[in-house]
This record gives sequence, structure tokens and C-alpha cells, in this order.
Amino acid sequence: MEKIEFDLKEKDVHCTIFSGNLLEKEILDYLKKMGSSKYVIITDSKVNELHAQSFLSKMKGAGLNCFLISFPEGEKNKNRQTKAMLEDKMFEEKCGRDSCIIAFGGGVTGDMAGFVAGTYMRGIPIIQIPTTTIAIADSSIGGKTAIDVPAGKNLIGVFHQPIAIFMDTNYLKTLDKRNYVSGLIEIIKHGLIMDKEFYEFLKENIATILSRKGKDYERIMEKLMMNNLKIKRDIVLADEKEKALRKILNYGHTVGHAIEKLSDFSLLHGEAIAIGICVEAFIAYKKGILTKEDYLEQKQIINTLGLETQIPQHISTDKIFDLMRIDKKARNSMPEIVLLKSIGNYALFENEKVTKRFDEDEMKKIIDEYREEK
Ligand code: NAD
Repeated sequence: MEKIEFDLKEKDVHCTIFSGNLLEKEILDYLKKMGSSKYVIITDSKVNELHAQSFLSKMKGAGLNCFLISFPEGEKNKNRQTKAMLEDKMFEEKCGRDSCIIAFGGGVTGDMAGFVAGTYMRGIPIIQIPTTTIAIADSSIGGKTAIDVPAGKNLIGVFHQPIAIFMDTNYLKTLDKRNYVSGLIEIIKHGLIMDKEFYEFLKENIATILSRKGKDYERIMEKLMMNNLKIKRDIVLADEKEKALRKILNYGHTVGHAIEKLSDFSLLHGEAIAIGICVEAFIAYKKGILTKEDYLEQKQIINTLGLETQIPQHISTDKIFDLMRIDKKARNSMPEIVLLKSIGNYALFENEKVTKRFDEDEMKKIIDEYREEK
């Protein structure tokens, strides 16, 4: 097991992150030492059956005062109704400010439980036990929480940092292949924007990572999770409130988010971001910022994962641009995009900005050209 710690400047928060395989004993030891008066496991229906019930029994066996609340799995339940249900159950169970929430599940559970923890009695501690690749690679780290509302995804939430995160590769073994693979995109993205060596390590070991078995799997995943974490931690620590540098985490997301939404969420987040990375790499290549070789490299790794690189035909370039215009990162209705100058290096523009604006005709022309690419 590896351990990494970081302190957040703006809030007085210290977060310890543990990564490894089969960490239940470490989690129980941590909880016992922490000594909260009550622990609330929040989980979804699928993870409840697969892992959380048995973990609850172990917590009880260890003498911890705890209970579990589960909500139906799926993005459609990351909403106000679920939040209210969770809060009401916590009031029924008389949870006070000295209670602690344990988010046990994927990104939906982490966001949902994180938002409850951030607002329940003006904020109580939260521990994250991420069980999907996305949650391990991305959503459990950084303190962003949110729910979806009819006006859009992730529009209401707070920043609320977990006090501890336990990343256990063992949980990934029960995850279906589609969710497992698409979540890897965020890890690859971290290598692409910041760390060529890490990207190369990932590429060399991609077959083992995809197989999820063999004696090397745990070792490789542990290194992968730790390096991924260090990259994300360094970015988050440098820019906790997402003002400047943290924007580079949006690589592939300006185009990707638009495609995700226009697919009516039939594409998983990572699947849409994979296409977004290909398109944004092509834009960088066409603008002379990135070499053709580095653009093709990105398309190739996405191919190796078995993910789609082309924009679905029924999604028009006009519609993509319209959505990019109202993206959270857009300024004056002009999309802003993070671009790479090479594998492992994001590009910097005028006044040290990490994003570049594009005018409508130019952007649409490049996207259309990409669609013609083989
Ligand atoms: P998810 O939590 O819905 O998990 C996907 C599916 O896998 C669900 O059906 C879930 O029940 C199941 N599952 C979870 N763990 C499992 C396991 N170990 N074995 C078998 N099945 C398992 O979704 P996700 O893909 O983990 O995360 C997507 C969500 O994360 C989105 O809501 C997105 O907005 C959010 N997100 C948040 C951040 C952030 O910084 N807060 C970052 C990225 C994504």
C-alpha cells in the first residue's frame, strides 16, 4: 500500500490518500483511529450488493457505530430528490456534526455523498472509497461535488474536500468493461497534459491494464494510481478553485462535453472525452501547435483501448459548436480550448493563458476536416 498526503491552503483541510489492493483492514484501522461518533455509508444499489453490505458488516464487527443508505444506481439519480432522501435519513438516524460520511461507489455516489457532506449541518467530514476507474482517477480527488438539475449536469454543488481517500484496485475487478475502459481516459489525459514519462509507462503496460489480471496488474495499477494522483494533486494544489491552471484538466472536454450531451448521454463520459481529445489534438495539429505525429499518437492510444475516435454521424458540427459556445469555460460565447504542444506538455498562450479562443468559421472548418479523416 502507498500513502500520499496533502494540505489545502484555502481551507484548513488535510487529505490522506491510500492506494493499493484489498485495503479493508487499513480502512477499518483508520476509522477506529478517527473516532467519529457515527459513520454513514452512502452507496448506490449495485455497489451495495457487490461490496458495501459486506463492508458494513465488517465495520459493525469492528465495533464502529454505523449504518448504510443506498440509492438506485445511475446518473439519473444524482438529483435533488436523492439528496433530500439521504439528508432525511441522516436526520432520522440523529446524525450530528460529529458524524462522518463514507462515499462508497463511483463518481455518481462520490458527487452525491460529497454534496450532502458539504452542506449537512454546514459541512461534516467525508471519506471517499472510489470503486470505478473514473472515481479513482478523477472524481474522488479535488473536492468538486455536484448534482444534476433539469437545467443541466453538475450545476449545483460545493467544493468540499475529503479527509481521506482509499483507492482499492480490487473493486475495479467487478466493474463492467465499458465503464472500466472509458474511465481510463482521464488517467491517459493526465499523462498527455503533464507527464510524458507517465504516458509512456501507461502505454507500455496497456495490455496488462486492460486484462485486469496477472501478477503484474496490482503493481502496475498502484503505480498508475499514485502517479495519476500526484499529477492531479499538483494541479489542484496550484489552483484549488479552478481559476487558471486547473483548466488544463479540461483537455478534450470542450468538444467532448458537447458530444456527450448531443449523444443524449448514450456515450459514457470517457467515450465522449476520447473523441474530444482526438478532435482537440487535430485542432492543435492544424494550428501548427502540435506535430502530426503527436496528434496521431493520441488517436492511436484511444484506438488501442477499443474506443471510438470519430464523431457520431448524427451529431452535426453546428450543434457541437453551439454547445461549445455555452460551455462553462466559454467567454463571450467564444469556446476556449486547452491544447497540447507535445505529448506531456500543454500549450501556453498570450498572458500565460492555458486556453485558446477560436472563431466560429475556423473552428467549424477544422472539425469538418477532422470528420473527413480516416
Ligand atoms: P457511476 O458512479 O454511475 O458508476 C458507473 C456504474 O458502475 C454504475 O452502474 C455503478 O453502480 C457501477 N459500479 C460502481 N462501482 C462498481 C464496481 N466496483 N463493480 C461493479 N459496478 C460498479 O459513474 P462513474 O462513471 O463512476 O462516474 C461518473 C460521474 O462522475 C458523473 O456523474 C460525473 O459527473 C462525475 N464526475 C465528477 C467529477 C468531479 O470532479 N467531481 C469528475 C469526473 C466525473
